[in-house]
Amino acid sequence: MEEALTVILGLIVGSFLNVVICRMPQGKSVVLPASHCPRCDAAIPFYDNVPLLSYALLRGRCRSCRGRISPRYPLIEALVALGFWLSHHSFGLTLHAAASAAFLSLLIALAAIDLEHMVLPDELTLGGALLFLAYAFVHPGIKWWEAVSSGLGGALFFALLYVFYLKVRKIEGLGFGDVKMALMMGLFLGLRRLVVAVMLASFSGLLVGLFFIVFRKKNLKLALPFGPFLALGSAVSLFCGEAILAWIATLWIRA
Ligand SMILES: [Zn+2]
Repeated sequence: MEEALTVILGLIVGSFLNVVICRMPQGKSVVLPASHCPRCDAAIPFYDNVPLLSYALLRGRCRSCRGRISPRYPLIEALVALGFWLSHHSFGLTLHAAASAAFLSLLIALAAIDLEHMVLPDELTLGGALLFLAYAFVHPGIKWWEAVSSGLGGALFFALLYVFYLKVRKIEGLGFGDVKMALMMGLFLGLRRLVVAVMLASFSGLLVGLFFIVFRKKNLKLALPFGPFLALGSAVSLFCGEAILAWIATLWIRA
């Protein structure tokens, strides 16, 4: 029952996140007006706005203009619901589960916006950083100076990379949004999980980059947004970071 409620809450938050993903990069209000079809501008009644269900019942088409609705909408809703369920499942009914659900929601929104617009909005990166800074002070199990130094360490690392790309390779290999996203990640994940997150992000980014270069014949200056990889690395590290570090340690001992 509790788990079902968590999933429903995740679906509702995911539905709102779809609005944020659509409107925030355009500088529009995320609260008003109510949902409209992006094609015919018809208002979407509440019964056509039920997460996942409406998309399935309408077979992915707008009721008034029959235009295709992007599968991104149900995908985001399902991912956020999964994030909520995983948080509840791993951390129980705790404040940490709520913070983890908020963290995963921010990661999903950042990844989706970065994929489409190549920006990571400050409202989400710096807003999230403020949220998890406050959380570090509130949560008795977290030492705030550790959270702060992990956040600043992550930001500094990406700021140095940013400068390196700009000065040495004369390209903007990273956006400054990645620096602010690393700040947010470090504040919530702490240093150990942050290191794992960045390793996973770099590794998966490298694999996808190589795939594009080899199979799609893109050149080396191809611009891949790094936000989705940071989001993926952070989500995996949140739940499996310590296990991955333990695994790396066994490799180290054997070598
Ligand atoms: Zn329509």
